[in-house]
Amino acid sequence: MIRFNVSKAEWRSYGWQIRNRIKTLEELSRYVKLLPEEVEGIKRTQGLYPLAITPYYLSLMDPEDPQDPIRLQVIPRAVEVEEEVQKHGEPDALKEEGPVPGLTHRYPDRALMTITTFCASYCRYCMRKRIFSQGERARSKEEIDRMIAYIRSHEEIKDVLISGGDPLSLGEDKIDYVLRELRKIKHVEIIRFGTRLPVLAPQRFLEDRLLDTLERYSPIWINTHFNHSREITELAQEAIDRILRRGIPVNNQSVLLKGVNDEPQEMLKLNRELLRIKVKPQYLFHCDPIKGAVHFRTTVDKGLEIMEYLRGRISGMGIPTYAVDLPGGKGKVPLLPNYVISRQGDRFTFRNYKGELVDYEITEL
Ligand code: SF4
Repeated sequence: MIRFNVSKAEWRSYGWQIRNRIKTLEELSRYVKLLPEEVEGIKRTQGLYPLAITPYYLSLMDPEDPQDPIRLQVIPRAVEVEEEVQKHGEPDALKEEGPVPGLTHRYPDRALMTITTFCASYCRYCMRKRIFSQGERARSKEEIDRMIAYIRSHEEIKDVLISGGDPLSLGEDKIDYVLRELRKIKHVEIIRFGTRLPVLAPQRFLEDRLLDTLERYSPIWINTHFNHSREITELAQEAIDRILRRGIPVNNQSVLLKGVNDEPQEMLKLNRELLRIKVKPQYLFHCDPIKGAVHFRTTVDKGLEIMEYLRGRISGMGIPTYAVDLPGGKGKVPLLPNYVISRQGDRFTFRNYKGELVDYEITEL
C-alpha cells in the first residue's frame, strides 16, 4: 500500500485531501511505477477525461499490481481514447439532459439535479464522463433557481436526487441553500444525495458542519458507490457511522466493472462488508455504454452468474438488484437468473439456489 508522510490531523482533513489531490503524471509517478499504457493514457486524456485522485484513495492501491482494482478505477489508460473504444457508446447514453440545464425528469415522480462537475477523484468508467471536460464548476445560484422553479411547478415530483459530480463536495452554504429551497416545496417528500465521498474522501464526514446541514433538512438519504471490498476501510466505516448517527440511511449502488469486481467471490465479499458497516446494497448496475468507458463492460451472463452465486450465500438484505439502465433514458430493468423452470397453470417447477428442482402448486383460496 502507498503511504503519505503527513500528520494524522492532515490525513483526517478533507481540505488537506482535496488540496493535495494527485493530478499530474509527475505527481503520480512519485507513488506508482506507471505502465506505458498509463503514461500514454494520462497524456492523451488531458483536457478530455482528466486525472485526479485523493491521497487517501491512492493509499488503498497496491502499486505493485498492474491490475489492482483501485488502480483500474482511477488511473487513465490509453484504451479510453483509442478508436476501438471511442467508436462505441455515447457521451450521454441515458439522455440525461433535461428540460432545464442540470435537471433530468425521467420518471414522473422523480427529478435529478446535477449541481457540480467536481469530484474528489475521477472514476474512469463514470456514466457522466462527458462532464469531465467542462472543468470543475458548480452550478450558479441562477441555474439552481431555475431547476428549483421547475420542480416547484411539477407537483408530481415527490423525490429529488441531487448528484453531480459530487454534490457533497460543495460548501455547506450552497448545500444549505439547495435543501432550504427544496424543503419549501410541499410536494417534495424525499431528498437523496448521490455521493462517492464515503469511498474517495470519507474525511468529508468527519466534519460536523456538513452533517449538521444535512440533519437540519431530514429526512435525507444518501446513495453511495462502493465497488470493491478494499474500499471499505476503517475511515470509510467511521464516516458511514457518523452519517447513520444523524438519521441518514445509506444505500450502495455498485457498477459491474470488468477486471474490478466481476468475480462472484469479490461481489460476495463486497456485499458482506457493506452489511457489516450497515450500508444496504441497493443496485448492481450493468456498466452503461458510455463513450470512453466501454472497455469496462462485461456480459449480462457474468452479472447473472454473480447474482446466482450471491443467492444462498448471503441474506436477502445483502443482495442488490442487478439492473440495466436502458439507452435513451427508457429506465431501469431488473435482471434475475431464471428460477422458474416451467409452469402449467398454478403448477410451477422452481429451481432453488442449490440447483434442485422443486414442484410447487400455488393457488389462492
Ligand atoms: S465520483 Fe461519481 S460522478 Fe464522480 S467520477 Fe466517480 S462515478 Fe463519476
